[in-house]
Formats: sequence, C-alpha cells, structure tokens
Amino acid sequence: MSANVIDGKQISKEVREQLKREIEELGFQPGLAVVLVGEDPASQVYVRNKHRSCGEVGIYSEVHRLPDETTQEELLSLIDMLNKDKKIHGILVQLPVPDHIDEKAVIDAVALEKDVDGFHPANVGNLVIGDDCYYPCTPHGCMLMLEKCGIDPKGKKAVIVGRSNIVGKPISMMLLAKHATVTICHSRTENLAAECRQADILVAAVGRSEMITGDMIKEGAVVLDVGINRLNNGKLVGDVHYESAKERAGWITPVPGGVGPMTITMLLLNTLEAAKRSAK
Ligand code: NDP
Repeated sequence: MSANVIDGKQISKEVREQLKREIEELGFQPGLAVVLVGEDPASQVYVRNKHRSCGEVGIYSEVHRLPDETTQEELLSLIDMLNKDKKIHGILVQLPVPDHIDEKAVIDAVALEKDVDGFHPANVGNLVIGDDCYYPCTPHGCMLMLEKCGIDPKGKKAVIVGRSNIVGKPISMMLLAKHATVTICHSRTENLAAECRQADILVAAVGRSEMITGDMIKEGAVVLDVGINRLNNGKLVGDVHYESAKERAGWITPVPGGVGPMTITMLLLNTLEAAKRSAK
C-alpha cells in the first residue's frame, strides 16, 4: 500500500483563492504589520515571503526592519504604536528576537485582538478552554489539511511528538477539541516507537531528520510531518522518513510541499479574521 499524499501546496492555493475573493468583498483592506529585529537570514526569508503572500491576496502589509542593537524599550514602543494603528489588524513579531530582548515581554505586548500568530498567553488560555481565539498558524494549517481530506479526529488516537509552544502543545489542544484521544511525546518519552504505533493520527514536530521510520507507524495512519530539516547535502527533509512511512501510512504530508506551505496561508486567514472582528 502507498499512502495518499496530502498536497499542502494545492490546499494552500485553494485557500488563498478563497481568501482573495473574501477580501475583495470585505469593503476595506485588512492590514498586517511584520516586525523583524536583526539580520537572521532564515527570518529575512520568512518575512519576505509573508509580505509577498499578503500582496497576492490583497492584504496591506508593512515590514518594520529594526537593527540588531534595537533596545527592548524601542521594540515595545513600536508594538504599542502598531496596537493603536487602525489600518493594522494583525501584528507579527518574527521570532527569535536577539538575546538581549525578552521574548515573553514582546509576545505579551501585542494586543490580544491583533495577535494573529496566536502566541499571546491569553490567546493560548482561550485555546485551552475552547473560547474564541486565533489558532497558531502551523497547527491551524495541520487541522485544515485534515478537514480538507475529510479526516475527522473524533474518537481517533492522536500521538503528537514534540511539545513546543508553537506546534506540539497547541495542536494537541486542537485535536483534543475535535474529540481525539491525545498523547503528547517528548525527549523523555520512554519507548517512543510503541507510542507512535498506537497513533491513528501521528504528528511529528521535533526537528530531527527522518527520526520517525515506517516501522513506527500503524498501518493506514494519518501522518502529518511538521519538521523542516536541512541535510548536509542541502536536501530538505522532515522528521518522518518519507519513503518507509508512505508504505505504511494511509495519508502523509511530504516535505517540502506539505505542512510548510500552509503556515503562511493560515497567517493570511488569521489576518482576515482579525480585520472582520475589528469591523464588528
Ligand atoms: P522545538 O525545538 O521547540 O521542540 C522540539 C520538541 O521535540 C521538544 O518538545 C522536544 O522535547 C522534542 N524532542 C526532541 N528530541 C526528541 C526525541 N528524540 N524524541 C521525542 N521528542 C523529542 O521545535 P518546534 O516545535 O519549534 O519545531 C519542530 C520542527 O518543526 C522543526 O523542524 C521546525 O523547523 C519545524 N517547524 C515547521 C514549521 C512549518 O511551517 N512547517 C513551523 C514551525 C516549526 P523536550 O520538550 O523534552 O525538549
């Protein structure tokens, strides 16, 4: 058996077309401010892609590029200004910030209603208790992929490998809200392979090249590979060993072209949502 491939690029394209139509009908332009502190090359690429993607669907976006030596006070004062700016509905501070800036203070400073990344502690609390919130972009993308493939988590056993605040924990909560029975694994989990083999839905969000192999996957399982790892030869791979996993899985996301393309799309969706909420 070879798994059905979940095509993140195609799903993302369809969602963006839908967003573009909705934005045209909105009557005003949603706005996103992206703040980048420092010269981190990967962050530069992410920010460029976010800015370009906004333009493609009709979202106004502005990028604030600040030098490495920006003080925390200066950054917080910019966020405060953006919190009050009526044309800005979403604010994203590209992480990581330089070491001399307290990341938590930055996340806390973004107004809850503009927190389109979904990282503010009050937003996370709302996610946990099932109240109105913005879903963090990568987990949101994973959930939408399941929905688009007609996969209902209800009653299924979901195993999440990784417990980070941006992927592992929020996706666990989102799957729980959809009535999956959820297990969260991490670096201290004993017998990871046995845990993974229980999974009807397996989410890998670790950051270790191809560590989940086919023998760790239940026949017919849905495998969502969040990992993005670059090998020494330059090749991009996930946390799942794709070749062996696709012989066992029922559904699988490739890397690249799986979860990755969904993340920015969900940022666009959250920004539109923020704009709609501001108009209410
Ligand atoms: P973090 O480094 O924050 O978290 C990694 C998690 O993996 C931790 O909870 C850690 O456990 C766990 N872990 C580490 N080693 C093992 C192991 N041997 N067995 C089991 N669990 C282990 O990573 P992120 O969540 O930020 O990212 C995970 C991956 O997803 C990365 O490759 C990243 O690049 C990618 N990513 C992709 C995105 C996309 O758009 N597609 C967006 C965000 C991330 P512990 O808590 O015990 O240390």
